[in-house]
Amino acid sequence: MIFRQLFDLTSSTYTYLLACEKTKQAILIDPVFELVRRDIALLKELGLTLTATLETHCHADHVTAGWLLKQKLASKIGSAAVIQATDVDLKLSDGDVVEFGNESVTVLATPGHTDGCLSFLTADKSRVFTGDALLIRGCGRCDFQQGDAQSLFESVHDKLFNLPENCSVYPGHDYTGKTMSTVIEEKKFNPRLGGGASVNDFKGYMNAMKLPHPKLIDYAVPANLSSGKPDNDYVENIEQWAPINLTFSGVPEIDVDWVCSHKNDVTILDVRESFELESESERISGAVQIPLVSLHERAQELDVSKPIVCVCRSGSRSALAVGILKKSGFEKVANVAGGVIRWKETNAL
Ligand code: FE
Repeated sequence: MIFRQLFDLTSSTYTYLLACEKTKQAILIDPVFELVRRDIALLKELGLTLTATLETHCHADHVTAGWLLKQKLASKIGSAAVIQATDVDLKLSDGDVVEFGNESVTVLATPGHTDGCLSFLTADKSRVFTGDALLIRGCGRCDFQQGDAQSLFESVHDKLFNLPENCSVYPGHDYTGKTMSTVIEEKKFNPRLGGGASVNDFKGYMNAMKLPHPKLIDYAVPANLSSGKPDNDYVENIEQWAPINLTFSGVPEIDVDWVCSHKNDVTILDVRESFELESESERISGAVQIPLVSLHERAQELDVSKPIVCVCRSGSRSALAVGILKKSGFEKVANVAGGVIRWKETNAL
């Protein structure tokens, strides 16, 4: 199985990508609204088709990307039936199986943090995605959204702690950089739920926490009850000047064909060294030439009224040029994907 753990620096949320090696069908667990372009870039670069997004629960700290991914990739939205969120295609309950190609996850109802919390267990029982029911050496709070310490204790002890001891635990969040654990580790060392803690020990611990009201709850919960569908006035924050493809490495890219048909609308910045341009046949007509090594000092020579597309031999140095120009304050900048190599394959310089 293809597996990636992704992180949102803002909400400390983990998003998980799981995919079938053979059919390339994929699911995302807990995708974050603001990070849709990152996730789409990764799916594209790995050649995967997103079949579904699954929510571990109705989050109070970020908005799901389920709805937005459904609009863009026609993926199904999976969420606990008891949440009754709108736009849901897979209304999930305990024991349901979600298939993606030859792989699948089984739904485990693990309420307590909220009443609609689900965990997802891979078919070989080697990984469980626990959302906020079980965190690494911690657990989700139980003091809002129908949370209940007794049921969280039962979910963890009766379901999660009964999984194979070497089953890897992947949580919904971590705030200190911990990435994964195992069932046996949490059974032994989880300071709230493990090490022989009784339900009353746990209730006493949770009741004494007195946590502050979550900052985003009043905004995030209603949005997640709509599967992350924005209000009507929502305008997606994407580049309007060109069909930009954002790579997983974060570089805005543009196709050579688009550049060739918009030559008068943009500045073509060639960042190759002068020795690479000695031959006439290497030069791009109309391009401004500034070698990458000089770009920091010479960026102010560029016309600020036009978008800039950066090009080099293969597209790697020009990707750095894009970063340099962005840092220098240029907003409409993109890298020519594939560089001059691809340019020559499809168009005349
Ligand atoms: Fe939560």
